[in-house]
Formats: sequence, structure tokens, C-alpha cells
Amino acid sequence: MKDAKAPLPKADVSGSQPVSEAAAGAILTIDLGAIRENYRRLKARLAGVRCAGVLKADGYGLGAAPVASALMKEGCDIFFVALLGEGIALRKALGPGPGPDIFVLNGLPPGSESEALAAGLHPVINSAAQLRAWREAARAAGRKLPAAIQVDSGMSRLGVPREDVEALAKDAFDGIDIRFVMSHLACADEPRNPANEAQRLAFERLRKILPKAPASLANSSGIFLGSAYHYDLARPGAALYGINPTPSETNPMLPVVRLQAKVAQTRGVEDGAGIGYGHTHHARGPLRLATISLGYADGWHRRAASAAWFDGVRLPFVGRVSMDSIILDVSALPAGKPGEGELVELIGPSQSLDDAAAHAGTIGYEVLASLGSRFHRHYVGG
Ligand SMILES: *Cc1c(COP(=O)(O)O)cnc(C)c1O
Repeated sequence: MKDAKAPLPKADVSGSQPVSEAAAGAILTIDLGAIRENYRRLKARLAGVRCAGVLKADGYGLGAAPVASALMKEGCDIFFVALLGEGIALRKALGPGPGPDIFVLNGLPPGSESEALAAGLHPVINSAAQLRAWREAARAAGRKLPAAIQVDSGMSRLGVPREDVEALAKDAFDGIDIRFVMSHLACADEPRNPANEAQRLAFERLRKILPKAPASLANSSGIFLGSAYHYDLARPGAALYGINPTPSETNPMLPVVRLQAKVAQTRGVEDGAGIGYGHTHHARGPLRLATISLGYADGWHRRAASAAWFDGVRLPFVGRVSMDSIILDVSALPAGKPGEGELVELIGPSQSLDDAAAHAGTIGYEVLASLGSRFHRHYVGG
């Protein structure tokens, strides 16, 4: 259990042991100052509307506790996690209250209400059964308990289905302090998609059926759809972490993450040499190769045809990504470069998170959420 006043934890909230920079095969640098600046940029765009921080999946892989501490310095006092376990770990890391409000987006699994209550966590209620269970928890606790109510305005994922909202509204809300009514957008990163307006109108209609409460609709991209989507509280995740919330335009956010891997070994190979598992690649002419200490166990997808960078030079992956290593073609660099132990860049100034994700055939969200636990994590700008 960490003291609330202790310095920023270096380990993630799952409690894995931090590894030293010298011992690590790869180094993940997380710029908490950039996260704070991104929060300020979103706040400026929200012009007075409250702004939460979404910290699900251990703060999109960057460490929910240090990210929360950084955001709290900017005045952020509402956080969202996906799972109850994440909320319990976050509360533990931040120390006992009165702390920020922490909401559990996926709702509480039946029977877990007392655990949520003990950790001072608030459910996002997604069904009539969850409402009943939380009402019962409030009755047993003998006091009003905060919660959010989520309605499904058209994503068909979580939240009270449209056709059930009327019945839910007739249900009893005694013992429940409805902090806000919320919904989630399916296509917010496509500003011209008519689904956005359709969801906004559905949300408008549904929230009026329910008891009067503040409203929340926008994720990161939703903030950029305009003030009609802002309501009383925005819930950005991705944009805080430097993912572009406006994929068709220049990224308005600061980059947050830098990922560098160490060269474990270099070698020269002859024309025709088979490279990596399955010999999926054969050298055409003599090549110089560098093997780096990062692989699919660190979240770099096995099928990713990707590249690393060194001194502004692109170093393509050759052969298959292994569990703990990737082979790079470094023939474009001067002899002796990179040296063993030197760092190549996977994400950083030469290759943005979104570009690295695109080359790997995925999105920045998945790259961040897949980041492994073996890196040396270096927090700067806290
Ligand atoms: C993940 C999530 C968010 C944050 O979305 P971003 O696109 O990362 O900003 C907000 N609300 C809900 C319900 C979510 O699941």
C-alpha cells in the first residue's frame, strides 16, 4: 500500500517489478508533462466543461497511477476505468480518499458491489439488474451511493438499451446519487459520419426520460465534433496519450511515448542467408543485421512488417518477429552502427505512435494497450 504523498510509482499498478535501464532490453519513456499539456489543450477546447481522464487498461498501458497523479495536478478529479479490479488497484495506488471519483465503465459483476463500495468506486450502471444491485448496496450501507447511468444511444455495446430506458426511468432511484447520465459514440473519429448526429439526438431524447442529471457523451474524438457534443463532462483517453483524435487532420496533441530497444547483437550475413524463424526472408546480397531485444512478448505484433529508426535512418524488420527479438536490416548505416547496447527507436520523433501502429496494421490504442511489462519505464516531466 503506497502513501498518498510518496513519489510517483515507477512500477505499473499491477505491481510488476521495475527493471533498471541498464538491465532492460527496451526503454519506454512516458512524458507526464506532455499528458498534462494534452489535458490543458482539451480543457481549452472544452471551454469550461469538466474533463475526466480515462485510465482503463492501466492508463492505456502507460501506468494508471502515475498518469492519474499527473492529471490531478491539472485539477482532474474524475477518472474512468473499465474493470472493477483496475479501480481497486488505482485507488490503492492513489491512497485512501478523499480522492478523485473513480467510475467503472463496464459496470460491476453481480456480487462485487461490496468490493466496489469498500474501495470507494462508483459503478456505471448499464442495466436494470445493476441498478437494483446498487440500490440494495446503498440500502445495506445506509447512505446514498454515487453512480453514473449509461444509455446505449446506438453503439450496441454497453449501456441500457434504448427500448428499456423508459421502464428503467420508472424504477426507483432511491439511495442512488446519479452523478451523470452518459453514452458513448461509435464513430466520433469520422466527423462526417451521420451516426454521430444520430447518436447525439438519441442521447438527447433518452436522457430526458431519466431523472435530471448532468450529461456526458464525448470521448477524445467527440470533443473535436464541436460544443454540441460536450455537455457537462468529457471523457478523453487516447488524446491525453498522444493518439490523434482527428485522424484526417494533423495531430493537435503532443506525443507522450517514446519506445527504444537495445541492440543485443549485430552480424553480417552472406547472400542467400536465411533470416529468422521459418526463413521467411533470405538475404539478397550481403547484409548487415542488428537484433534488438523486443518482440511479440512486448506487444509488437508478430505479423507486423515494420521498421525501427537510428540517427534518422529507417531500419526495416527482416524475417519474423520473435518472442523476445526482432532482426533489423542495418545495411543503410555506416559500418559499426548501431553498436551493441545502443538504442534504436520504435516510437518517437522519427516514427509517431500512430505511424508505427499503421505500419503494424493496427491503431495507436492497440499498440499502447499491448505494451509489455519488461520495459524499463522512465517517467519524465511529472
Ligand atoms: C474508452 C472510452 C472512452 C475514452 O475513449 P478515447 O477514444 O480513448 O478518448 C470514453 N468513454 C468510454 C465509455 C470508453 O469506453
